[in-house]
Amino acid sequence: MKLYEFQGKELFARYGIPIPKGKVANKAEDAIGYCSSSDLPVVVKAQVLVGGRGKAGGVKVISEKEKIKETVNSIWGLDIKGYKVEKLLVEEGVEIENEIYLSIMVNRDSERFTIIACSEGGVDIEGVAKVDPGAILKMDIDPLIGLRSHHKAKLFSHLSLDNPNIKYQIGYIADKIFNMSRELYLNLVEINPLIITKGGRVLALDSKIVVDDNGIPFLKDFEKFINNDDKSPQEIEAKEKGLSFVSLDGNIGCIVNGAGLAMATMDMIKHFGGDPANFLDVGGSSNPEKVINALNIITSNDKVKVILFNIFGGITRCDDVANGIKAALKALDISIPIVIRLTGTNEKEGVKILEDMGMETTTSMTDAVKKAVALSSKEA
Ligand code: GDP
Ligand code: MN
Repeated sequence: MKLYEFQGKELFARYGIPIPKGKVANKAEDAIGYCSSSDLPVVVKAQVLVGGRGKAGGVKVISEKEKIKETVNSIWGLDIKGYKVEKLLVEEGVEIENEIYLSIMVNRDSERFTIIACSEGGVDIEGVAKVDPGAILKMDIDPLIGLRSHHKAKLFSHLSLDNPNIKYQIGYIADKIFNMSRELYLNLVEINPLIITKGGRVLALDSKIVVDDNGIPFLKDFEKFINNDDKSPQEIEAKEKGLSFVSLDGNIGCIVNGAGLAMATMDMIKHFGGDPANFLDVGGSSNPEKVINALNIITSNDKVKVILFNIFGGITRCDDVANGIKAALKALDISIPIVIRLTGTNEKEGVKILEDMGMETTTSMTDAVKKAVALSSKEA
């Protein structure tokens, strides 16, 4: 789950990382009000779950009273990469001396946290990485130990810092983002820019935080941070219905029992040249209702051209799945082809239910996947 900038900054404040003073407005009038009652300059920032807002016109500095209304209105409702601006963060303007990039992320390859830093903050870091990879420092951090003094020495030297006071503040912030990541199950904490003000203060001017969804149930006092705004409608509904579901870009809708088999199904689809529209694990238990919910979610995606069931009955009973398909076809108006691989517990009963409805099944995963891929590449 991605957090909004203002939410990330609230977590920064909880951890003692300095941020500019600010307020969130949920209405344009409120934003105008906050700007009018603040000392200028103020900065108004679109709250959307994508980066590059600055370049898209979503971050503006206001220095004159007369410009407040027009500037707020120029950002409000703006479409930034498909996200509509419906929240603005109004912050005190700060005088920037230096913009730094600092982040920490979970690195699955090294099985460590990785701190990334660059003295050219503010701009897009991917651009710097392409042009001048050497400008970016990457350091693996042992999750049980955290940052040692040698890490900090390397960080300070890479950022060419010599003022002890600035070094102290940045070292402190680096420790804090490590603590946050570990304690709050964060996959990413990015501060871009982390700024040094003319007065020698270090502030987090932006925040990008990605929380590991699997950690959320363990977090205390976290309800207000939970949002579904970067999830597809299908993902939101699947979550409500207790299905494990991830949206993907392809056109083969997958309904599979068991996460491992679901992964293998997607691999095999790719192997035969197709593209899965989703990952979906209907779970181990038998429940026709789940099949109905799954079909409902998958068919609400217009891109899906064919539905592939891959059921290896263990605890899941094939006849229950078959009954689910039967009930779903009665309840829903499904006009795309359905390919069914069904084998295992109560296979005979399941196959009979489907054959009575005039549907074909196979026990071979390879055959089913090949057939689904062939159907998915046909012109509609
Ligand atoms: P992003 O484009 O979505 O990453 O938005 P940021 O929050 O990083 O802001 C983009 C840029 O706006 C920053 O790199 C700064 O250069 C500038 N900016 C943001 N806040 C202030 C501020 O208080 N004062 C000044 N002068 N510039 C700011
Ligand atoms: Mn930024």
